[in-house]
Amino acid sequence: MRTFEFIRPADSAAAVATASQAKTAQQGADIRYVAGGTTLIDLMKLNVETPARVIDINRLPLDTIEPTLDGGLKIGATVRNSDLANHPVVQRDYAVLSQALLAGASAQLRNMATTAGNLLHRTRCVYFRDTAMPCNKREPGTGCPAITGSNRTLAILGTSERCIATNPSDMCVAMAALEAVIHVLGPKGSRAIPIGEFHLLPGTTPDRETVLQPGDLITHVTLPPPVAGSKQIYLKLRDRASYEFALASAAVVITIANGTVTRVRIGLGGVGTKPWRSPEAEAALTGQRANPANFRKAAEAALRRAKPQSENAFKIELAKRCLTHALQTAATA
Ligand SMILES: Cc1cc2nc3c(=O)[nH]c(=O)nc-3n(C[C@H](O)[C@H](O)[C@H](O)COP(=O)(O)OP(=O)(O)OC[C@H]3O[C@@H](n4cnc5c(N)ncnc54)[C@H](O)[C@@H]3O)c2cc1C
Ligand code: SF4
Repeated sequence: MRTFEFIRPADSAAAVATASQAKTAQQGADIRYVAGGTTLIDLMKLNVETPARVIDINRLPLDTIEPTLDGGLKIGATVRNSDLANHPVVQRDYAVLSQALLAGASAQLRNMATTAGNLLHRTRCVYFRDTAMPCNKREPGTGCPAITGSNRTLAILGTSERCIATNPSDMCVAMAALEAVIHVLGPKGSRAIPIGEFHLLPGTTPDRETVLQPGDLITHVTLPPPVAGSKQIYLKLRDRASYEFALASAAVVITIANGTVTRVRIGLGGVGTKPWRSPEAEAALTGQRANPANFRKAAEAALRRAKPQSENAFKIELAKRCLTHALQTAATA
């Protein structure tokens, strides 16, 4: 790991003022915030991230979970994943989020990992993490060896000719189904970004992963009020039962009245280049009878545009079964 300057800002404004001197907010930024450090320090040890200045935001007052005036929930940027997962309101009203967080990483990592850090968690693509290899995400224009190489765990939705890396977050998939909003403080003031607009598809610029600009500090995330009568589930399929990233996962928030689906929100993980919301599956299911045949039809719709790589065609059927089973489990809970 190279040397770097460690900065402890007095408040959020000071943090933003320092971070806004960075040339970019994306990969390769020379100034970085650090929260739990479980992504950033990991990548600094590998020389994948080499910031000259690291701004510690752990002492900023961003670590509370509070109700919002409209009946929703405000989650501070530095709230630890374990605290969020075990919060009684989250367990009661946003169970899909609690389940997704507890399905991620290990207890030790969840005790350090934060809400904002998880939103910005980097891909586990092996070429991205190995500086001896080319990688368009790490070094734009060098190529994507994953397309002809090791891609079993990589994406089948939202890929481009430049990058097929999976977004590995569990938390973000649940937040997509819950329609979370991300709140940012930047050099020009505050703004709110719906989670569906926060992460970018790789396209021709896979080094740009989010809409964040230099200096932008995530301050908190809000969840809308819970949907009365909804049932929620997060189902994660992986190579081993714990401490492993998803091959496919599904976050479901579903409301059923008299046997008919009146509202459903569906997120998919392990298959997309960003946390994947499926409006196709939601449209296929809304107004339909809540039964296994219609759940399967929704899953077919969700994966219709999937593009397999050389080693991961199995993910298409896996993701369909994952979503079908999640819907069935939620419906009969
Ligand atoms: C071995 C291992 C296994 C894991 N398994 C899983 C898993 O199964 N599922 C899963 O979802 N995750 C998994 N994770 C990832 C883990 O959830 C993330 O590393 C963690 O959420 C990142 O949070 P952090 O606070 O440690 O981020 P940091 O490392 O502190 O920061 C990550 C990035 O976010 C930026 N950042 C942090 N806070 C802010 C802010 N407030 N505003 C703007 N930018 C900010 C930093 O500059 C950095 O670029 C795993 C990690 C490891 C190491
Ligand atoms: S898939 Fe993306 S992250 Fe992986 S090698 Fe290709 S460009 Fe790099």
